[in-house]
Amino acid sequence: MKNYRKLEFEKIGEQKRGFITALEQNKNIPFHIKRVYYNYFTPADVSRGYHAHKRLKQVLVCISGSLKVKVDDGNDVEELKLNNPNEGLYIGPGVWHEMHDYSEDVVLLVLASDYYNEEDYLRDYDEFIDYIKNDDKFSDGYFKHDKAIVDSKDIGEETSVWGFSHILAEAKLGKNCNVCEHVFIENDVVIGDNVTIKNGVYIWDGIRISDDVFVGPNVTFVNDNHPRSKQYPDKFEKTIINKGSSLGANSTILGGIEIGKYVTVGAGTVVTKNVKPYEIVVGNPSHKIGYNCQCGQRLSRENQTYKCKCGKEYKKSEGKLKRI
Ligand SMILES: [Zn+2]
Repeated sequence: MKNYRKLEFEKIGEQKRGFITALEQNKNIPFHIKRVYYNYFTPADVSRGYHAHKRLKQVLVCISGSLKVKVDDGNDVEELKLNNPNEGLYIGPGVWHEMHDYSEDVVLLVLASDYYNEEDYLRDYDEFIDYIKNDDKFSDGYFKHDKAIVDSKDIGEETSVWGFSHILAEAKLGKNCNVCEHVFIENDVVIGDNVTIKNGVYIWDGIRISDDVFVGPNVTFVNDNHPRSKQYPDKFEKTIINKGSSLGANSTILGGIEIGKYVTVGAGTVVTKNVKPYEIVVGNPSHKIGYNCQCGQRLSRENQTYKCKCGKEYKKSEGKLKRI
């Protein structure tokens, strides 16, 4: 799996009025953006780059003019031309890159997943080759810490698995997930894209987690509501966490529960029954205290409409909140 690729962005508008292209984190930019910089007035005879990063992810967008970027992941070497403001080049960790042939009017915009950190740079080519070859960190397109155990072959690209975490062979994880330290993921587990699993979470057989879910530190899942030592149920309870929901720190989700999309479960909540979309639930046993928006802010009610400061509006239909 190559750890670099061209990205095409939507070009909104028409020739006679000009165009707009929007870059949005975790949408068309496949990471959380922490730093933006740009490079301009570079003379044509200058070459830049000549390094790789250990962890940093970047997207290069040539806003004006053109340049060539040589990318090298230790296996493939390619020279790519950037001359189109609605096109980007994603460069993930472990990709050596060099920039050449800058045009006079070049403006190169770079979006980066982290702040500047000299320790993240590999500036010597041999050191770069050693770094990527002597380690299977980059071999499958996702990042695995030296001290993580990943038995599964089904891990999406750009996912990170940090130290002292263990993922069993049958588990499936999507793209761009972050599995923090001390996480255990059993076999019959399916996890979507852009999921964050904070430290100290154990995800047992039968648990399904959709895209964009946040699982806070020390969230506890249960897959057998009547456990006895050495007595195994015929099958484990299925627990479903739908898209965009957040499970607060130290909350407990009993077996067989379905949590609707964009739910917030407050810290320390014990969820004993299903939760409908957009609900905020707290306490033990869990109870609803209101609704929140897709964006996470609390909704306020005006007559029959639930409104967010971000502009989104919702209405109730068949007992569930729906976006209008
Ligand atoms: Zn909102």
